Amino acid sequence: MKELRTERTTVKRSPSRGKYGREDLFEVLDAAYVCQIGFLHDQIPYVIPTAYGRDNEYIYLHGSTKSRLILNLLSGQVCCINVTLLDGLVLARSVFHHSMNYRSAVIIGKAEELVGEAKMRGLKIITEHILKGRWGESRSPNDKEMKATAVVRIPLQEGSVKVRTGPPKDEKEDYDLDIWAGELPISTEYGKPLADPDGNRTIEIPDSIKKMTDGRHNA
Ligand SMILES: Cc1cc2nc3c(=O)[nH]c(=O)nc-3n(C[C@H](O)[C@H](O)[C@H](O)COP(=O)(O)OP(=O)(O)OC[C@H]3O[C@@H](n4cnc5c(N)ncnc54)[C@H](O)[C@@H]3O)c2cc1C
Repeated sequence: MKELRTERTTVKRSPSRGKYGREDLFEVLDAAYVCQIGFLHDQIPYVIPTAYGRDNEYIYLHGSTKSRLILNLLSGQVCCINVTLLDGLVLARSVFHHSMNYRSAVIIGKAEELVGEAKMRGLKIITEHILKGRWGESRSPNDKEMKATAVVRIPLQEGSVKVRTGPPKDEKEDYDLDIWAGELPISTEYGKPLADPDGNRTIEIPDSIKKMTDGRHNA
């Protein structure tokens, strides 16, 4: 399978932390909910967070047809997408060597607008990424909602993944210092589901939510 690496997505700082396999990228994308998209608007770079979904070849985004983000993505410019998972604080003996453990992905590409069946499929991919099974449990988008929404996809052809794991890397002479050093792991957990007080609160919690504890999103 083709690598994501190009000249401009080759990790130069700490290159041993760089990965370029599609599975490496999918692992990061599947464990997160939010991506940040960098684009130029009136020559100013903006970085805007948003939800996403993916299949084997594309990342999918949606937004209002009037959204500055979407309009800029569809202007033909190249955008840059980042997804970051924070796994821990790395507490070194020296201030200099403090760090973080993480898995992060960078994707570079041009967006393409989806219409018709492909647009509906894109919305399904995004919804299912947020909560697997939710598409089938919810009311489908109507014509008015479809008209108000734009769906775009960006190919997963050029990018990189960077991963840091493990303890701090201090200077040799500092390991004898009487200073606590190590890792403070960070994990994300779901809380108890709270039924909307403005609806029927006797409806049973759906399977999609019950399955959340299977670990897929507990990254
Ligand atoms: C949670 C977190 C905290 C960080 N804290 C710091 C910090 O405090 N100081 C610091 O200098 N760096 C930090 N980094 C690393 C930072 O993301 C960059 O990798 C680093 O600063 C080098 O940037 P550069 O532009 O010189 O990279 P280069 O190596 O020149 O980048 C070349 C290419 O490598 C790829 N790349 C670079 N960084 C990443 C990445 N993180 N994920 C995926 N692909 C990447 C991109 O495709 C990029 O175009 C942190 C990263 C994370 C995820």
